[in-house]
Amino acid sequence: MTESADVKQYDVLIIGAGPSGTSCALALHQAGLKVAIIDKSEFPRDKVCGELLHKKAVETLNAILPGFEKDFINFSKTLVLKHTTVHYKGKSLTFDWVSESYTCPRLEFDNYLLNTVRKYTSTDIFTATVPDKITVTDDGVTLTIKNSPVIYSAKIIIGADGAHSTVAKQLTEKTLDRAHYLGAVRAYYKNVKNTDNVTSEVFFSSKYNLNYLWVFPIEGNLSNVGFGLLSSNISENKINLKESFYDYFKQSPELAEKFADAEQVSTLEGFGVPLGSTIGTVSGKRFMLIGDAASLSNPLSGTGMGNAVMSGKIAADQLIRSFKANDFSAEFMKGYDNVLQSSIVDGLYSSYKAQRTLSKLPFLLDIVFFIGKNKRIRKYIQSIV
Ligand SMILES: Cc1cc2nc3c(=O)[nH]c(=O)nc-3n(C[C@H](O)[C@H](O)[C@H](O)COP(=O)(O)OP(=O)(O)OC[C@H]3O[C@@H](n4cnc5c(N)ncnc54)[C@H](O)[C@@H]3O)c2cc1C
Repeated sequence: MTESADVKQYDVLIIGAGPSGTSCALALHQAGLKVAIIDKSEFPRDKVCGELLHKKAVETLNAILPGFEKDFINFSKTLVLKHTTVHYKGKSLTFDWVSESYTCPRLEFDNYLLNTVRKYTSTDIFTATVPDKITVTDDGVTLTIKNSPVIYSAKIIIGADGAHSTVAKQLTEKTLDRAHYLGAVRAYYKNVKNTDNVTSEVFFSSKYNLNYLWVFPIEGNLSNVGFGLLSSNISENKINLKESFYDYFKQSPELAEKFADAEQVSTLEGFGVPLGSTIGTVSGKRFMLIGDAASLSNPLSGTGMGNAVMSGKIAADQLIRSFKANDFSAEFMKGYDNVLQSSIVDGLYSSYKAQRTLSKLPFLLDIVFFIGKNKRIRKYIQSIV
């Protein structure tokens, strides 16, 4: 296909400018490839999320771009968290973490990452651009755009377009597996009692099969408050997730007291969380899936940004190998699957087993409470959430 007014040619098309897509573009900054990011949303845009960022996400970005961590910690919207207090049956236990975590509103964080891509790479960024049809041939990939005559052409396409990925829908047989998918809701509150800027809190309830409600501090004296349940549980028991969120407060006298003067300052919004524990189809001829599009969120905690960032970096490494070998075959792309399996998915399987064991044997949580004071146990817990 030759360059014309309506055909834009690239080496790599990344669909989605969330943490996975921007990390992939950043990791390609010295690869000498012509890269485009296409996102359906106008930025800055919000993304329903608990907004707790694990250290490993920031460490991975810092390995890609030395100095990232320092700049991010100094970003005015970032909070550095040192502790988590877990509440269960009227008891509470505070974990002083071995390494800190962060919160940053997604409206700000994702825009920060996209601006970092603008600053350090020559990536072309197309926002408010909605993909339509993806076609893979022996020579490359083409993408048409809704309500536009423009066609994007590339050697390979990366699906970084989240839980409802159009790339995954069009290029794989992937279907929604409710046993490995969370429905989750989130709202912002102010005037929540006994909060500080360095402690995240989670409240377990035995009524909701050991799922937890989180209260995470957000810059500007706000709390990000949310709750998620397995989709299989929601559909089998006909649970209304939004009603359950408010019911959760009634289950716990501590929560009722904590929120006695609180004011909800945003609507309660929901979104899906695709959980990882086994690897599905994450690559094929001329494509790879990263982040939520590849179902990489942690089954125990529901967090996915760390693995989104890591998978973006792993995909970028595979892209560099593919361009060097000029090989975009499904077989060659398995190199991505293999690294993803050993670096991320094997660990998610441990979290999945822990999640299943705890939900079948809830009394174990009492034991975890008891032994969680031990530093080695705390370190292990931090490695699986
Ligand atoms: C309620 C809730 C709470 C959560 N809490 C946490 C938490 O505290 N910590 C944590 O680490 N993780 C959390 N997660 C998970 C986390 O949000 C995701 O794992 C993470 O956002 C995945 O990043 P991503 O880049 O793969 O996808 P996304 O962040 O979803 O980004 C996808 C991007 O693709 C764009 N897009 C979507 N569809 C298309 C399309 N068809 N064409 C073009 N562009 C498209 C979107 O506009 C978006 O910019 C939570 C999720 C939910 C729902």
